[in-house]
Amino acid sequence: MEFISTRGNVSNIGFIDAFMMGLGDDGGLLVPNEIPAVSPETLQKWQELSYQELVLEIFALFTNGEIPEQDLKALVNASYATFRHPEVTPVRKLKDDLYLLELFHGPTFAFKDIALQFMGQLYTYVAAKQNKKIHILGATSGDTGASAIEGVKGKKGIKICILHPHGKVSKVQELQMTTVQDDNVLNLSVDGNFDDCQRMIKDLFADLDFKASNHLAAINSINFVRIMAQTVYYFYAYFQVTKETEVKQVSFSVPTGNFGDIFAGYLAKRMGLPVDKLILATNENNILERFVLEGVYKPGDFRTTYSPSMDIQVASNFERYLYYVLGEDAAQIRFLMETFKSEGEIVITGEALAKVQAEFGAHGVLGQECLDTIKKYEAASGYLLDPHSACGVAAADKYETEGGLTISLATAHPAKFNEAIELCGIEQQFPEQISALFEKPQRQTRVDGSLESVVRELKAFYNGN
Ligand SMILES: *Cc1c(COP(=O)(O)O)cnc(C)c1O
Repeated sequence: MEFISTRGNVSNIGFIDAFMMGLGDDGGLLVPNEIPAVSPETLQKWQELSYQELVLEIFALFTNGEIPEQDLKALVNASYATFRHPEVTPVRKLKDDLYLLELFHGPTFAFKDIALQFMGQLYTYVAAKQNKKIHILGATSGDTGASAIEGVKGKKGIKICILHPHGKVSKVQELQMTTVQDDNVLNLSVDGNFDDCQRMIKDLFADLDFKASNHLAAINSINFVRIMAQTVYYFYAYFQVTKETEVKQVSFSVPTGNFGDIFAGYLAKRMGLPVDKLILATNENNILERFVLEGVYKPGDFRTTYSPSMDIQVASNFERYLYYVLGEDAAQIRFLMETFKSEGEIVITGEALAKVQAEFGAHGVLGQECLDTIKKYEAASGYLLDPHSACGVAAADKYETEGGLTISLATAHPAKFNEAIELCGIEQQFPEQISALFEKPQRQTRVDGSLESVVRELKAFYNGN
């Protein structure tokens, strides 16, 4: 397998190089040149594997043997050793046709841990093997930052800087990032929203001289390794649910922001997992819902919602999907992304739009519906959904398919988003790891929303120590 760019001017890249490149050098996103096919016989064989065993099988399809088997096994085991549930991503039944895939049992209580704990291990491995300096740079709507910092804090050869939008992440998200005391961590609290942070990161990665001279590495879902790691739980959940039911095909409902998680589901489907619909759940920032329903990809006004990790208008990973739905035509992607830059929108019609609508359902869940969903499930089954997971469940309820079964992704633990839970009039008990955060001192630097200020802070950070 090789990795290529959606914009056609990067090719022949191996797994480790793709991991280290992050954003494609031509501004596009890296994808495998061929999607690996998983046969029904292989699916059958994988059914009884543990989560970690399944990870190794799926990663082997992408890693080209570039990491010796024993090393990869050690990295994977270390990545998931910090999870609080033996199954890593357990599935639980909410009602007859609806299951919940719990993705929040990692150290920072959100699904980002599943890919990022592995990426932290892999960066540390590469830094040691190649005797390299690695400066991880990322933007976060809250959860990526906490998870990435957790994965590499105090690690030799690695520095990490995370930009988060000032005042637009939840209190617990902020504390998880800023109470880490290691000197290889820099938190920049940026005046602006997540899209502003993400745009600056993409600009810095697109400046190839800056990227190379500052040893930049990406942890956002522009990095293909994140997508790869997230395909695993789609397979795992499918196996758990089909073991105890008669169904042979399932739908997934996915709370979506940057289109990373749901793209992993799309990839799993393309690899051969029997997936019916992928239901895209958004909040008021519903650019992706409008794309699925109307074929128009055009950012609207940014809104602050109860589900801040999904407060995103410009979805980085959308380009990967566009590439596939338009028949892997890099020239057309280059053209469309140019058009997006100059005119602020992308429109697709006809056969391509029909394909999108056959593959995806979409529902934008408004604030009240989100809170009502939390209250409804808490009252009916005593299960407390976080506001992101509630968007997924609300969308799944809307798309209830005749005789079908939906697995909805629970992307965070409710303790991370107590602001919304309190509004539901529900009092929750915090896990002790989260309560402890409120006692710790914070370290962060406030910056205005200009690229110059961010670069100035980065230079000081990289030159220090
Ligand atoms: C990041 C995040 C999402 C959105 O995932 P994408 O891959 O950006 O679509 C949803 N829920 C939670 C809790 C998140 O942290």
